[in-house]
Amino acid sequence: MKTTRILPLAIAILSSLALQAGDNHTHEKKVPGPNGGRILRSIEPHAEFFVTADRKVQLTFVDDEGKAIAPAGQIVIVTTGERSAPVKMTFANNDNVLVSDQSVPLGNNFPVVVQVKTGPDSKPLVEKFTLNLSKCSVCNLSEYACICEHAH
Ligand SMILES: [Zn+2]
Repeated sequence: MKTTRILPLAIAILSSLALQAGDNHTHEKKVPGPNGGRILRSIEPHAEFFVTADRKVQLTFVDDEGKAIAPAGQIVIVTTGERSAPVKMTFANNDNVLVSDQSVPLGNNFPVVVQVKTGPDSKPLVEKFTLNLSKCSVCNLSEYACICEHAH
């Protein structure tokens, strides 16, 4: 008797939890960066990863509304390029935006590892993704920063 009453309730709670998680995910995915770059959500505060026209990596820290904020002395290292010859990028503060000293090598679909430390002794926050520089035909952003829901 008891089992038959508890089970439908448990299923209802579980499915409403699953729905909520799905909603949050969709909502977060749709927010573009201030320069049309990718928002790194594993990094706190979040940061926008953007490749400039001269293939430098530009990192802009953003608040929860996606508005640019000044960096607070974070130490950033980005590793990208061919797996056999990765480029380790260091960053300089240029007008409250971090710009890489090195350029992204020619090519496409490089693996990217972004490491952000809030201080010299703190544990780095890490985000990894594929740097697909092709333009998305739907939202017109680069695929690495694509905000639409189409399958890749
Ligand atoms: Zn898109």
